Amino acid sequence: MSTTSFDSPIDIRSANAQHMYHPMIDPKAVQAAPPLIIDRGEGVHVYDIDGKRYLDTVASLWNVNVGHNRPEVINAIKAQLDKLAYYSTFQNTSNPPAIELSARLMRMFAPEKMNKVFFSSGGSDAVETALKLARQYWKLNGQPDRHQFISLKWGYHGVHFGGASINGNPMFRSAYEPLLPGCHLAETPYTYRNPWNETDPAKLAQLCLDQLAQLIEQVGPHNIAALVAEPVQGAGGVIVPHDSYWPGLRQLLDQHGILLISDEIVTGFGRIGAMCGAGAWGVAPDIMAMAKGINSGYVPLGATLINERVASAWDQPGVPAALMHGYTYSGHALACAAANANLDIVASEDLPGNASRVGAYMQDKLQELMAYAHVGEVRGKGMMAAVELVTDKASKAMLLPPSAYIQTLVGTARSEGAIIRVQGNRLILSPPLVFTRENVDEALRVLHLAFSAAEKV
Ligand code: PLP
Repeated sequence: MSTTSFDSPIDIRSANAQHMYHPMIDPKAVQAAPPLIIDRGEGVHVYDIDGKRYLDTVASLWNVNVGHNRPEVINAIKAQLDKLAYYSTFQNTSNPPAIELSARLMRMFAPEKMNKVFFSSGGSDAVETALKLARQYWKLNGQPDRHQFISLKWGYHGVHFGGASINGNPMFRSAYEPLLPGCHLAETPYTYRNPWNETDPAKLAQLCLDQLAQLIEQVGPHNIAALVAEPVQGAGGVIVPHDSYWPGLRQLLDQHGILLISDEIVTGFGRIGAMCGAGAWGVAPDIMAMAKGINSGYVPLGATLINERVASAWDQPGVPAALMHGYTYSGHALACAAANANLDIVASEDLPGNASRVGAYMQDKLQELMAYAHVGEVRGKGMMAAVELVTDKASKAMLLPPSAYIQTLVGTARSEGAIIRVQGNRLILSPPLVFTRENVDEALRVLHLAFSAAEKV
């Protein structure tokens, strides 16, 4: 039963619809269909206010990677809370968990040659920090015209004005325009849908790189600060590029001196089988934006890492270079203590390795869903996957909400004991990285029931 101060679950449901706005949904839809209210978690499962148990196939929001209510993380937060909940890292004060975390991140991302970290409160903050540091880097280096950005179609980089301006899906931009000028979109290596109808991933990667090269020429390399991309696009529909794409991207940007910002907010800390997504493609970015898996969502935290090249701009003797940027909660002691305990688990349980092994099993099993009439493609890497829903396989037309098919899919999964998420026409799977093969089997059992029910609608 609920642990809130409300009299009964009925009160808490009506209060939610009456008083609270939810991200990424029309408030009227929340009133029409009250949300699932989660009260308790345990490993890969959560419980609603009526005590019903669900398998969490999405790790809440791609982030609860070590699972729910891990005592190691909870105890670290409690121990820190007993000493000090918060002390600012502005100017010249600091706190031990933030310092420990900064050193840990530098060790962890030594292969990518990361050199400094700037903490924030979440993913959108981390992206905003990355964009601002990229601009300041070029000003400090005497090239102030380099202030424009390139990002990829379908990419998602959060909700702040900078991140929204480079988002690759107009859905996240249109209500808030006009946004930042000087942001350009390049084609993304999406084999299922692309302007060339190219289905060969290697050829498509080259076509995208050629188009990007043209775009760079058009905008003028001397005007471009950075390119921002996710190693595997998440919210855009788990778009996995060919192995050649990221190395090609790095090479092309290097030819023009353009910085590479890797948005690792979903892919960081193991989700695609390596500690970071760029690393999985054998590429060292200049800047990495991280959040989510850094502490599995136990306390909000974001981190922007920069390499030696970028950091060197702030080291130039005689050049005033204050970082006029920062969040009250940059380096929050509880968030950093949670991250230190969380990253101990990531290392000791080899969660990138588990994401790779169990993820391969999951990707394989998910292909069974291709048997259903409205499944156009099943794709993914490691512990992230998407099932693309179409009205028919020949036309590939997107099967979009509102749709009885999607409602039945999600509703049946819930009644059978699993939380699944459909975003647009994509069913997304992003389970905790501690998922086992048995958990995958359980997810598949529910998905088959859900798809069978939806196909009858
Ligand atoms: N970048 C990517 C790739 C994301 O997936 C997200 C969130 O899902 C963000 C940025 C924004 O992060 P947050 O929601 O923590 O602000």
